[in-house]
Amino acid sequence: MLVSFLTADYAAQNQMLSNFTTSEAFYLIIVIAIAGFFVQMRLQSVFDKYSRVALPDGMTGAEIAERMLREHNIRNVRITHVAGHLTDHFNPATMTVNLSDSVYSGRSVAAAAVACHECGHAIQHAEGYAPLAMRSALVPVVSFSSRAAIWVIMLGLIMTASSSSDLICWIGIAMIALSAVFSIVTLPVEYNASARALEWLESSRILAGAQLDGARISLRWAARTYLVAALSAIASVLYYVALVSGRRR
Ligand SMILES: [Zn+2]
Repeated sequence: MLVSFLTADYAAQNQMLSNFTTSEAFYLIIVIAIAGFFVQMRLQSVFDKYSRVALPDGMTGAEIAERMLREHNIRNVRITHVAGHLTDHFNPATMTVNLSDSVYSGRSVAAAAVACHECGHAIQHAEGYAPLAMRSALVPVVSFSSRAAIWVIMLGLIMTASSSSDLICWIGIAMIALSAVFSIVTLPVEYNASARALEWLESSRILAGAQLDGARISLRWAARTYLVAALSAIASVLYYVALVSGRRR
């Protein structure tokens, strides 16, 4: 996708996109934003529900995380506490699994699910799981390009007024497309971490039956927030493609 923006024949591209306008792309962005709002609300209520479902053996999220890492022979990752709500993450730079208040000391189905999901990322890192490696490699590039892209596109639009080339605009769009690639690569990373979490929670007999289902539902809604983010990133690429190709007509 990225390369085609730069190399494809503009006339052919305009032909292909002639049915797609900026206002349609804008509506798409709005629809996805509304869907994102509902997914976020649902995630919140699912987590609230399963935060109140206690574990039979009463282990905290931190204790479960310690055990999951130990059983996977991972000894160079520390479990630490981070402030906030849903701020849990694995940091490969510091080799820490950071668990939020309610997960670190929580003794619930939701705490177990989140703690094990984050350990899933630590295990991916230890195994050299390819999508995680690709995602990590993209972080510095995307953090620069996502900030600079809008300025490149604006410069491109100003230059288009006085020249026939809109190459600069397409470079800016390619930079935005990189963010979309990043959020698409994030999807297998997130789904795989949840799959690892659920598999281990089941095999270690920490969760079973309705409690395991609760963990599955919690992680499913968490994954949907990443799905919405990816769709939103794709829609914003479409918006800028429509904007730039529309100006040439
Ligand atoms: Zn994750």
